[in-house]
Amino acid sequence: MGVSMRAGEVSRVGVVGAGTMGNGIAHVFALAGIEVRLVDVAPEVLDRARASIERNLARQTRRDLISTDEAEAALGRITTERSLTALEDAEVVVEAASEDPALKFRLFEELSAVVSPETLLASNTSSISITRIASHAADPERVIGMHFMNPVPVMRLVEVIRGLETSDDAADLTLGLCRRLSKTAVLANDYPGFVANRILMPMINEAVYCLMEGVAEAEAVDTVMKLGMNHPMGPLALADLIGLDTCLAIMRVLHTELGDSKYRPCPLLAKYVAAGWLGRKTGRGFYDYSAA
Ligand code: NAD
Repeated sequence: MGVSMRAGEVSRVGVVGAGTMGNGIAHVFALAGIEVRLVDVAPEVLDRARASIERNLARQTRRDLISTDEAEAALGRITTERSLTALEDAEVVVEAASEDPALKFRLFEELSAVVSPETLLASNTSSISITRIASHAADPERVIGMHFMNPVPVMRLVEVIRGLETSDDAADLTLGLCRRLSKTAVLANDYPGFVANRILMPMINEAVYCLMEGVAEAEAVDTVMKLGMNHPMGPLALADLIGLDTCLAIMRVLHTELGDSKYRPCPLLAKYVAAGWLGRKTGRGFYDYSAA
């Protein structure tokens, strides 16, 4: 059996991991009229995710992007869960757990044992090979990369990555779901970091080297890239938004998988992660968010 459903028929989606990305992914599916079960192992993350979704829906109503009724209905479609077994009847699962290869491999093994043989299994990984993740699923044909951008409710792009064995039906369903979520899908081939992070993360890493070597202070690095290159956000502020642990994990994948020293993670990035300075999510990264 394989994926046979069309995007318009999907009514139940599971999201695994309720952190920075998981809550945004749950938000956009729920707003598109789809029931969402949002799973995380950490109960406090689930509470925070629900509060973030509520806050972000409220912001959209204030900006007249959606009505209060639509926001309430979307929130009503999301339930939070502690175990993957809650995804038994999900037609699509989007995995958005931490960027750790071993964790993702285990999750795809476990998900394969829980879901139906027709369920599409998508990973929101930023850099890990979809083919490798798929090799841990019972049926690699139903596995695909669905790489949303942060913040999910705002950013229009989804990078879609087919693994070596991903079926045409799985790819069609994924592209149809992107349309249903009003996102623009771009297809990328399965190479470490795909397109987005092959380009973005070395730039962020280089910005951290500039800071470490004293080329300029953090604000100066970011101002050069904002005013000089017309980037809406400086690379260090963007790293804080993404999460420094996620940035480090992506650099490690690029370094290991591509084997080129130009991808070596900056030691200052590793030091901040070791200290628990993970950016906005912990209140401190290259900038201090404790007052926010
Ligand atoms: P995060 O650290 O904010 O959240 C990860 C969540 O996964 C945590 O809440 C953690 O408790 C949960 N988790 C860990 N093990 C789990 C398990 N066994 N079952 C269920 N949940 C589990 O990370 P994030 O930034 O949301 O990243 C998630 C994924 O999205 C990663 O693969 C990352 O590379 C990718 N991604 C991140 C961004 C970004 O800007 N942060 C952008 C695109 C893609």
